[in-house]
Amino acid sequence: MLYGNQNVRAALSRMAEGKRLAQCILFYGDTGLGKKTLAGWFASRLLCTEPDAPCGSCKNCRTIQQRVHPDVTWVPHSGKLGGFSVETVRAICADAVIAPNSGARKVYIFDDCDKMDVRAQNILLKIIEEPPAFAYFIFTAAARQALLPTILSRLVPFGLSQCTEEETMQALAAQGFSPEDVQEAVGCFHGNIGQCRGYLEDETVRRLVALTKEAVHCIISKREYDLLGVFYRIGSDRAQAARLIEMLGQVFRDGMALRLGQDLPCTGCDREGALALAGKLSLADGQRYHQCIGKAYAAVSANVNVQLILSALCAELMAGR
Ligand SMILES: [Zn+2]
Repeated sequence: MLYGNQNVRAALSRMAEGKRLAQCILFYGDTGLGKKTLAGWFASRLLCTEPDAPCGSCKNCRTIQQRVHPDVTWVPHSGKLGGFSVETVRAICADAVIAPNSGARKVYIFDDCDKMDVRAQNILLKIIEEPPAFAYFIFTAAARQALLPTILSRLVPFGLSQCTEEETMQALAAQGFSPEDVQEAVGCFHGNIGQCRGYLEDETVRRLVALTKEAVHCIISKREYDLLGVFYRIGSDRAQAARLIEMLGQVFRDGMALRLGQDLPCTGCDREGALALAGKLSLADGQRYHQCIGKAYAAVSANVNVQLILSALCAELMAGR
């Protein structure tokens, strides 16, 4: 059972039924929105020969789901950054000109292309400029900009969006999570099924949500040293610091939206905190927070010392309050 992005699936189905089926497709959007699930679904749509394709139960569908179908390749990542090596991409280009093993089509899935380097992309360009008639290429990335303009111009892009909160609750309940847990997860990560599941399954995510909420409280009640203490608990973990800063930024954005009376659904993990911020923030505060959080996020993505960034962020968030 697939949840959400019905419009994208409908468009893909129409495309698959028509005569002009694009051979290179990109799914992009935040982590957790189901890009890989949709890539697998579309591979099944292309290879399932049942009338109600993808039927989900024929041999093609089942082996695609298990990732063992001989004509569907999930291209392996390599290197510390999780990109694709030049050798891997060359091997895929060579393989893509060989006729399918069992069916009429071959599918190559390059997932998480955000760290794919320019060399690998340039090698790939040759094959996606003129792919053999049976070859299909599916890419997934958080942002379209991860790919070179020359590559992008060959792809049909589909942006994925969040599910409704009801769909998310149904999806999580179907996976066996309790109603209380589901409620809590959806309160933090709304219609992003993958991130809700992350919250339910990964203690680190729950800890980061708790730290974010605590940080918001410290800021509201102007407790600078307590805020430093919250940040200190991140240690030197760059990925966790980036996530904390990102989640803090979302709560501020929600706070500003509420302050401006915009009736938008919350994007962050702390609606109560956002409401409290909305009651206290001036527009100038909001703008300043937005800037210093953006700066801290950029620094943490570069190689600056994590605790230095967080201390500086703490000072800036407290300045003038
Ligand atoms: Zn099938």
